Amino acid sequence: MSNFSSPGRTEPVSRAVQASGSAAKAPLAINFIVIGGGIVGLAAAIALVRAGHRVTVVEKGDGKTNTGPGGMRLPPNMTKVLFHWGLKDVLQDAALTSRLLLMANLHTGQILGPQVWNEELLKETRGKYMVMSHADLHKVLYDAASALHAEIRHNANVVDIEPDDGMVKLDSGEVLQADIIIGADGETGLCRRLVLGREECLQSSGLMFFDVQFPGGLTNIDLDSRVEGRLPEATSDNPVDVYVGNGCAATRYPINGGHNFALHYLFNGDFSSGGHYGDPPTATEDLRGLLPSEIDPNLGYYAHNATRATHIAIKAHEDLDNWVHNSGRLVVIGQAAHPLAAGSIQQAAMGVEDAAVLGKLYSHLSIPEQAQDFLYAFQDLRQQRCAEAADGDLSTLRYISADLGPDQEARDSNMLAKYREGRNVLEGDEDSGEVEQWSQVRSIYAYDCEDEADDWWVQWGLLRARANSDGADRSQPTFDAFDWTAATITSIDETTMS
Ligand SMILES: Cc1cc2nc3c(=O)[nH]c(=O)nc-3n(C[C@H](O)[C@H](O)[C@H](O)COP(=O)(O)OP(=O)(O)OC[C@H]3O[C@@H](n4cnc5c(N)ncnc54)[C@H](O)[C@@H]3O)c2cc1C
Repeated sequence: MSNFSSPGRTEPVSRAVQASGSAAKAPLAINFIVIGGGIVGLAAAIALVRAGHRVTVVEKGDGKTNTGPGGMRLPPNMTKVLFHWGLKDVLQDAALTSRLLLMANLHTGQILGPQVWNEELLKETRGKYMVMSHADLHKVLYDAASALHAEIRHNANVVDIEPDDGMVKLDSGEVLQADIIIGADGETGLCRRLVLGREECLQSSGLMFFDVQFPGGLTNIDLDSRVEGRLPEATSDNPVDVYVGNGCAATRYPINGGHNFALHYLFNGDFSSGGHYGDPPTATEDLRGLLPSEIDPNLGYYAHNATRATHIAIKAHEDLDNWVHNSGRLVVIGQAAHPLAAGSIQQAAMGVEDAAVLGKLYSHLSIPEQAQDFLYAFQDLRQQRCAEAADGDLSTLRYISADLGPDQEARDSNMLAKYREGRNVLEGDEDSGEVEQWSQVRSIYAYDCEDEADDWWVQWGLLRARANSDGADRSQPTFDAFDWTAATITSIDETTMS
C-alpha cells in the first residue's frame, strides 16, 4: 500500500535511490552536520552523501511535526535536480504534473487567460512543473536520504553551536562534531543569527499569506466550459488556478493525488501578526474576516469551509552579505540564507539548488583545505541567483494582488487581450518590451545549477587544486590565500599552457 497520501504510488523508493547513488565521489570524504531536516536539509544530505561524504542531519521535530499538509509547487529548475538524483519515478508517483496556469479574476471568477507550459519550454528546462504536499515531498527526500545512509536524527534540538570547533550541542546535552556544519534550520533558526552576528531586524512586507487545505476532488470538470475550448489538448490536467484581485489574490491546485486542494490566499496591508509553517491551523476566522465582499463563489466557499488555515507572516528580511560564518566551517543554505516569501514558487527550489551546488562542489574534495574554499565558492555561485529569484517572486505576489487602480486595470486588461488573441498570458508584447519578462521566466526555469557548479570547477577549482598540488603553502586557510576578486579566466589559460 502507498505510503503517500496520494494514491497509485507503487514503486519502492529504494529503486529510484539506487540510481541517485551513482554520482562522482570525492577523493577525500569528510563529516558534515546538517542542522534542520526540512526539505533543504534533507536535499543537502542527499547531495553530499551522493558526493561520497558522511552526513548527520539533526532535526528538532519528531518526523511528523516538521512536515505539513499544505501544498508546494515544484518548478522545472527544481524537479530537474531531483530527476537527476534518480527521483523521477518516485516523484511522478507522489506528485501531480501540471502544464497549465489558469488566470481568473478573484472577484468575479471571470477567466483572464491560460499560460500553458509548452513542450518546447519544458524540453529546454529538462524538468517538469509539479504540485504536491509538503509532507509528500518531505517523505520522498527523507526516504532517499535514509536509503543513501545519511544519519537522520529526530527530536535533536540544537541549542548551541561552536563553529570554530565544528561543534553542535543538542538540548539533551550531547555534543556532535563535524568538519563542516550546514545551517538548514530556516529563516528563524540559530544559524542565520549566528552568521549575522545579532538578532535580525524584520520589517513588514505589506503582504499577508494564508495556507489553506480543502478536501474534495479537483473540480476541473467545468474547465472546458470556463476556457471555452481554447486550450491545446492534454494540458488541462491538474491546473494551477491563479485568481488575481484588487488588493488580494489566491492560488488553488490539487494535491494528494487530486483528493485535496491546496489554497493560498494573499492580502495587501500592513500586518504585524502571523506565524510560521507548522503552527497550529487556527486562522480560519481571520481569513474569513479579510475576504472581500465580492469574491468568486468557489473561493468564498473554500475559505468558509476550509478544514485548516494557517496565517504565515511574510516579513521583509535583511540581506545577508555573508552566508559563511567567519570560522569558515559553517554555511547557511535555503531559507536560513535567503528567505523567500511564503507563496513563492521558487522558495523550496532555491534551497534544493543550494543543496545540489554544494554536492557538486564537494564531489571534488581532495585535500582538507578545499573544504573552506568550497563554502566561499558556494556563496559566490548562489547569492545573485537567489536574490533574483526572491525579487522576482515577490514582484509576482505584488502583481497578482495589486490594489484597485491603473496597475491592476492594466494587468487584467492585458491578460484578457492576450487570451482573446489566443496567446499565453505571460507572453510579452514586443512593443512594450515584455518579451524580456517572458525570457526571464525561461531563464529561471532553464537554469541548471549543477552545470554552473561544474563550470566553476573547470574555471576556478581546478586551477586552485593544481596550485595546491604544485606545493603551495598550505599552512594558511586557503580562502585567505586565494583572492577570488583578483582571479581571472586568463590565468587558467596561462596555467594550462605552462
Ligand atoms: C512544518 C513545516 C511545514 C511546511 N509546509 C509548507 C507548505 O505546505 N508549503 C510550502 O510551500 N512550504 C512549506 N514549508 C516551508 C518550506 O519547507 C520552506 O519554505 C522551503 O522548502 C525551504 O525550507 P528549509 O528547509 O530551508 O527551511 P524549513 O522548511 O523552515 O526547515 C527548517 C527545519 O529546521 C528545523 N530546525 C529549526 N531549528 C532547529 C534546531 N535548533 N535544531 C534542529 N532542527 C531545527 C525545523 O524543525 C525544520 O524542519 C513548511 C515548513 C515547515 C517547517
